[in-house]
Amino acid sequence: MTEVTSAASNSHRALQSPKISFEFFPPKSEEMERSLWETINRLAPLAPNFVSVTYGAGGSTRERTHSTIARILKETNLTPAAHLTCVGAPKGEIDDVVARYHEIGVRHIVALRGDPTTGIGTAYNAHPDGYQSSPDLIAGIKKRYPDFEISVSAYPEKHPESPNLDADIDTLQAKVDAGAARAITQVFFDNDLYLRYLDRVRARGINIPIVPGIMPMHNFKQARSFVTRAGTTVPSWLADKFEGLDDDAETRKLVAATVAAGQVQKLAKQGVDTFHFYTMNRADLVFAISHLLGIRPNGAQKAA
Ligand code: FAD
Repeated sequence: MTEVTSAASNSHRALQSPKISFEFFPPKSEEMERSLWETINRLAPLAPNFVSVTYGAGGSTRERTHSTIARILKETNLTPAAHLTCVGAPKGEIDDVVARYHEIGVRHIVALRGDPTTGIGTAYNAHPDGYQSSPDLIAGIKKRYPDFEISVSAYPEKHPESPNLDADIDTLQAKVDAGAARAITQVFFDNDLYLRYLDRVRARGINIPIVPGIMPMHNFKQARSFVTRAGTTVPSWLADKFEGLDDDAETRKLVAATVAAGQVQKLAKQGVDTFHFYTMNRADLVFAISHLLGIRPNGAQKAA
């Protein structure tokens, strides 16, 4: 396995100044909105590259994603990235969503195909008048608005629908050809999987940053079931670490922080200098892990 040369472009710089981004989901209630904004205000001083807001399955949070992004743009200095899927909608509707983002000043979209409306594990059927795939969506956005920066997904363990990793990397290549500037990986817990994937992607001549997606497991049981459905392997050593802690949230939190901090610190030692955190709208663990990476509020940096 070669040392990482990008997400991750320079291993010396990596240890001094990792770059981070945060992912949030749009809140469903006023209480969740208050809690999200406490999280955003706590994490904002860490000066992330960008913060992204997910788009609910089948476009179910279209308005809430938009209003969260609009508020971030209005009330903070953060750079928002709006997730967008093309599942279950005609092109015209998706184009309107994109146009509204452009109009308010958003310039970064995380462009995805999305899960089948009939549920994960069932066959995907594109809308007959819709974008047919993620590369098709990216090309559609770029054609109308070349100034949108496009991030996409990447799957170190392959997407569950892909027959094999090479076919999955073919899709990544098609997304790059259509204009993707960065890929963010599905969550993984075994760093070797990511590093081996990176080797294969680089061997194919794909040079965009492949940013590792890191998920601190606040609630191991819940998270395990969610990530397993998305094709992520949960190693037995990880399950062992949470064993017996179902009723002990405090210890679970400490264990989760230790595990995720260990993961990012090991990646940083391999030269990875960019991390995307699945925050689950909570600040504490992500703040602590960023601190351990040497990131301090208001742009101050310490060697990790
Ligand atoms: P793609 O990268 O286009 O495809 C994934 C793989 O599936 C490829 O290997 C491709 O070849 C294969 N494939 C694609 N279409 C077919 C087909 N018709 N038949 C057979 N194989 C096919 N989901 C949301 O709903 N909202 C979000 O905000 C969201 N954010 C995400 C962010 C990240 C960083 C990641 C990793 C995932 C996110 N997802 C989100 C989940 C994502 O929508 C699902 O994983 C979805 O099933 C695939 O979308 P994609 O763009 O990743 O697929």
